Amino acid sequence: MSIKLAARVQQVTPSMTLAISAKAKAMKAEGLDVCSFSAGEPDFDTPAHIREAVKQALDSGKTRYGPAAGEPRLRSAIATKLRTDNQLPYNPENIIVTNGGKHSLYTLIMSTVEPGDEVLIPAPYWVSYPEMVKLAGGTPVIIPTTAENGYRITPEQLRQAITPKTKFLIFNSPSNPTGMVYSPDEVKALADVVLASNIWVVADEIYEKILYDGVEHLSMGAVSDAMFARTIVSNGFAKAYAMTGWRLGYLAGPLELIKAANTLQSQSTSNVCTFAQYGAIAALESSQDCVATMRQSFAKRRTAIVNLVNSIPGLSCVMPDGAFYLFIDISKTGLRSLDFCSRLLNEKYVAAIPGVAFGDDNGIRVSYATDMATIEQGMERLNDFVQQVA
Ligand SMILES: *Cc1c(COP(=O)(O)O)cnc(C)c1O
Repeated sequence: MSIKLAARVQQVTPSMTLAISAKAKAMKAEGLDVCSFSAGEPDFDTPAHIREAVKQALDSGKTRYGPAAGEPRLRSAIATKLRTDNQLPYNPENIIVTNGGKHSLYTLIMSTVEPGDEVLIPAPYWVSYPEMVKLAGGTPVIIPTTAENGYRITPEQLRQAITPKTKFLIFNSPSNPTGMVYSPDEVKALADVVLASNIWVVADEIYEKILYDGVEHLSMGAVSDAMFARTIVSNGFAKAYAMTGWRLGYLAGPLELIKAANTLQSQSTSNVCTFAQYGAIAALESSQDCVATMRQSFAKRRTAIVNLVNSIPGLSCVMPDGAFYLFIDISKTGLRSLDFCSRLLNEKYVAAIPGVAFGDDNGIRVSYATDMATIEQGMERLNDFVQQVA
């Protein structure tokens, strides 16, 4: 007899990003020469001073249960970071430490979204947003964008998408999967629309530190006091500090929300791994040189991969301003993104993620958080593949 599953999980799609990365890893383990561009994580080790801080925390007994909302020192370090880096006047009580940025969004959505609520999600979007909204019984409302407008939504599109049922807009800049960054003026123009309505903004700022060519990131909540009062921030340590496996993120928002999230967390996960939190404290309170070093590596790879992709007849891409992804337009090849990626993996041993997973079947996502040799070899194979299907 098989167990009857809840309707809640049956309507949720498993993460295609994780599935393809796993398949590429399995092929590699079989000895196949796979070039993988599928993983959404930095290829660097966590910086030594952060690892060292955790070793010390372990040896000094930071191995017990802690407060569900996080170690007080970490909540206070995060509040300081949000004030100084982002001009967001949060206090430590406005912060809850979570098991990664993914979990902070999940906790937030579970604390706020009810059946009937609509959540605005610009596409291409991060795979988990619509699934989490569905898990909460809400309705994801997708706002499409195109390569021509740089994958940005316009204030007019936002205005038209808002209904009396809209709860919030999920605003991810820099973006996964496109690497697009809204300029400060664009952020302000969208904030005007938000303030003329009753909706909130959830700002997923996990890539805020990975920016190129002097591009500026303005936090939505830093636009004005009124906008601050309408914004919730989700962030984490995974991308900026190469700490993906640590599972450390945080949510910042109004007290009543943080209290609700704390209640939820106290009855589900409890505190995030106590000693790991000491690594996060070290990440925030030490020199930020490691972030700059990784960013410089990403910058070199970005230039290389964009040039290679744009030299392939039939493909094109918009130069990304942030994160470590490239969204390649494959519409001229005539293939659907899923066919494109499964054939590319099976025939050329190149792993990329089909755009359909992000709500845009015209593209594929490649992550350039990998070494230059893989980038060169992989783009050569991509070229072979495209010429073969043309
Ligand atoms: C990676 C990522 C996150 C959070 O990742 P965690 O590993 O859970 O901290 C959140 N949003 C986006 C868009 C991401 O790419």
